[in-house]
Amino acid sequence: MAEELLECHECSALCEKVVYPAACLSMNCRFLYAFKEDGRTFFGCIEKVFPHEIELELFESIERGKGGFGTVKAVRQPLPQCSVAVQSCYACDEAPLCRNMYFRRRERREVQTVED
Ligand code: SF4
Ligand code: SF4
Repeated sequence: MAEELLECHECSALCEKVVYPAACLSMNCRFLYAFKEDGRTFFGCIEKVFPHEIELELFESIERGKGGFGTVKAVRQPLPQCSVAVQSCYACDEAPLCRNMYFRRRERREVQTVED
């Protein structure tokens, strides 16, 4: 299977693939891992689709706020179950002329937020 691009630089913007850690938790993905350190719980992705280890309590508190925790950058190939979106950063105020709609239109999957 061909690897999908994680970033596009084909115009004045930078677009990149991101994933929603909230979706990893809500689907209880089998690639999730968690550990405790100094009484705090951290979780991460064994496949390192996102490289960070996120503190669960902090994550849940941000997730309950307006807009939720949001996304983290994907640094490795997302797996079929990952909740992927495309995020754009524009280098100037004007929207760029996209030359790679295939990349931009990466299907966004619905994410459920973490419940109390
Ligand atoms: S494989 Fe995808 S869905 Fe599973 S923990 Fe990693 S990023 Fe989340
Ligand atoms: S707007 Fe289109 S061409 Fe420009 S970086 Fe994003 S995907 Fe690539």
